Amino acid sequence: IDGTEAQNKAIQGLAQEFDVTTERLRTITNQFVEEMRKGLDHEGATVAMIPSYVTGRPTGEEVGRYLALDLGGTNLRVCEFELKGKGNYSVKQQKFVVSDELKTGDMRDLCDFIADSVDKFLTEHCTKPKEGEEMLQLGYTFSFPVLQTAINRGVLKQWTKGFSSKNAVGKDVALLLQESFRKRYLPVNVAAIVNDTVGTLMAYAYSYPDTIMGVILGTGTNASYYEKTANINKWSTEENPAGTDEMVINMEWGAFDNERRVLPLTMYDNKVNRQSRNLHQQLFEKMISGMYLGEIARHAMIHLIDQYLLFNGESSDIMNKQWGFETAYLTAIEKDKTEDLSETKEILEQTVGIPSTTLADRQMVKKIGEFVGRRAARLSACGMGGVMTQDGKIGQECIIAIDGSLFEFYPKFEHHIREALIELFGEEATSKVRFALARDGSGLGAAIIAMMAHKQQ
Ligand code: ADP
Repeated sequence: IDGTEAQNKAIQGLAQEFDVTTERLRTITNQFVEEMRKGLDHEGATVAMIPSYVTGRPTGEEVGRYLALDLGGTNLRVCEFELKGKGNYSVKQQKFVVSDELKTGDMRDLCDFIADSVDKFLTEHCTKPKEGEEMLQLGYTFSFPVLQTAINRGVLKQWTKGFSSKNAVGKDVALLLQESFRKRYLPVNVAAIVNDTVGTLMAYAYSYPDTIMGVILGTGTNASYYEKTANINKWSTEENPAGTDEMVINMEWGAFDNERRVLPLTMYDNKVNRQSRNLHQQLFEKMISGMYLGEIARHAMIHLIDQYLLFNGESSDIMNKQWGFETAYLTAIEKDKTEDLSETKEILEQTVGIPSTTLADRQMVKKIGEFVGRRAARLSACGMGGVMTQDGKIGQECIIAIDGSLFEFYPKFEHHIREALIELFGEEATSKVRFALARDGSGLGAAIIAMMAHKQQ
C-alpha cells in the first residue's frame, strides 16, 4: 500500500494476526475430527452432532406439492414447491421481514407472526389441501440448534445469530408452531423440522446423488453430512430407527472450539464475542459467517483509527456503532477494481460517513477485508476437511453443496477454501472435490423432507 511506514507496519501486523498457517489448518482439522467423534459418542458435546432423522437419499423421483418455511436468517420465507420428479420443480415464494422485537420478544408472538405469514401466503396463492387430503404438509426449516427426537419433533437447545425469543429454549418448536396454526384453523401440518444445512444437502442430492455435505455460509455457518448409524455411539440400539444404515447429522459446527483451544482468535474477535448476545458461544461461527465479518473488520478499523493510522484518526457514527459496518460493504470494497478505489471511497465517505479518506486509507480497508474473508474461508475449509476425513472421502469424487450470501458473493471465497484443502490434502485429492452453489436449497430440501416424512407416517 501507498501509506506511511507506520501504516505499512500496521497492515503487516494485521496480515499476521489474521493468517491461518498450513500447520494451524492441520491442527484445527484434526481437532474437528476429534470433536465430531465426541459429539457422536455422547450428548452435550461442543459440536453437538445432532441426528436429523432424515435417513434415505432422495431418488429424484419425488413428486407432489409441499410447503416449506424458513426461519433463521434475515427473512422469514414461505414457499410452495411443486416437485415434478427428475430433480425438476417449480416454486412460489414470499418473504417476510422478522423485526428485532420479534427476535427478542416472546416465542408465542414469533410463532403467531409465522402463522399469520403462512396464512397470508395461502390466501394470496389460493393454496388449499388437495381433494381427499385434510392438510397441507409443511417442512419447517428452523436453523438453530434443535435436539430432535423424531423427524417432526425437536427441542430448542439455544438461540444463535441474534435471536433470543423468550419461552422457547427447552420447548418443542414444531408443537409451538402447530399450536399457532391450530388457533387460526389453518390446514397445515408440520411434517418435519429441517435444519437448513440438511435441507441444502437434500436439495442438491435430489439432482446430484454424489453430494456428501450441505454447508451454510450465510448469516451463520453450519454443516450436515451422511454418517453411518453404527458410528452414532450415543444411541442405544433401540433408539436407532430400524433398517437404516445411514442418517444425516446436523453438526452444529458453529460451536466448534468454544473452549478456545485451537482457533486463532484476535483481539477483534474477542470484542465481537464480548458484545454479542451469546457470549462465548458459536466462536467458530463468529469468525466465519456473514453476520460477523463486517463487525470484525469494524473493530480492526477502529483500532487503527485510534492510533491515527486510518482516516486521520476520524471515525463516524456508523463506524462507531455495533453492526454499523456491513459485511456486504467488504464484498463491494474487495470487488473495487478502480485505480483510485473510487467505489471504496464512496462507501466509506457516503455510506459510512467517514469525513475524508486517502488512497492509503482505502487500500488498508481493502486489505482488512481480504484478511477477514480469507481467514473465514480457510477456517470453514477445516470443517469440510474434518468431515471428509471422518467420512473417508479424501481422494474420492464428491460434491459439497453450499448455500449463503457469503459463499455466493464474497470474492474468492471458494478459491480460498480450495487453496486450504490443497494445503491439507494435496492437489490431486482436492481436484476430486466440487463445490456447488445450492441457492435457497434449504426450502426445496425442506419440501423433499416433508414429502419423505409424510410418506413414512
Ligand atoms: P441467511 O440469512 O438465510 O443466511 P444469506 O445467505 O443471504 O441469508 O446471508 C445473509 C448474510 O450475508 C448477512 O449476514 C449479510 O451480512 C451477508 N451478506 C449479504 N450480502 C452480502 C454480500 N454481498 N457479500 C457478503 N455478505 C453478504
